[in-house]
Amino acid sequence: MITLRSRSEILSMRRAGLVVWKALELVKSMVRPGLMTKEIDQAVEDFFKRSGAQPLFKGVPGRVPFPAVTCISVNEEVVHGIPGDRQIKEGDIVSVDTGCRVDGWCGDAAVTIPVGRPAPEVLKLVEVTRQTLDLAIELMGRSRLWSEVAAAMQRYVEKHGFSVVEAFVGHGIGRSMHEEPQVPNFVNALFLKKGDFALQPGLVIAIEPMVNLGTKKVRLCRDHWTQVTADGKPSAHFEHTVAMTEFGPYVLTGPLGPMDEKLGFDPDRHHFA
Ligand code: MG
Repeated sequence: MITLRSRSEILSMRRAGLVVWKALELVKSMVRPGLMTKEIDQAVEDFFKRSGAQPLFKGVPGRVPFPAVTCISVNEEVVHGIPGDRQIKEGDIVSVDTGCRVDGWCGDAAVTIPVGRPAPEVLKLVEVTRQTLDLAIELMGRSRLWSEVAAAMQRYVEKHGFSVVEAFVGHGIGRSMHEEPQVPNFVNALFLKKGDFALQPGLVIAIEPMVNLGTKKVRLCRDHWTQVTADGKPSAHFEHTVAMTEFGPYVLTGPLGPMDEKLGFDPDRHHFA
């Protein structure tokens, strides 16, 4: 069942979203060649602590509980990379995904950061993935069903010669990080028949296209978490938590903007729902 959120609940979620956005801005400012991915994770963990936010990723159950507050996936790593001693190199692309809970509400977002000057086709991959997320948010405001948005995302990716990862999808988000519905970045017969949902005010979803330069196929590494492309070619990932409102899509994990004003969000006030 999909839970729709009231305006005050959405404003509460905005607080968590803003902390996630600031955490990723911090990450963008520190990524450089020579940095170990665990140093990024530590900075985000400290930032969450200072912000009174509870990290969502640490301890997520699996064969081994996820050990960090961020997933950091470099180059051919698609998602769920474990931060560690790996050093970032000139020309890498570094995907950082994180989430937190504030006042009982969750936010979740991801960015892929080019380091220095990656190969042109790799930069293009990052750009197209970012544009796919932007396109989805824009189309949310003028589509009736998610399938219309997802089909457009897939077309956009494939038009550029890249592939959409199908093994992982976005998700509803609210009190928990992962709620219904599933939010794919592609369409297939099963989704059209059983998974499609209406884009109505109160819907809050994490939209997260994962786009590969080569094959869409992924495989799991021996650390039980890191997913890599089956052909070893690079992958990019962008994510925002987005609420549908009477005024259109409201990006909860982005910078302060006109939608905050329209909806009456005050970053200095707790909007207890
Ligand atoms: Mg997510």
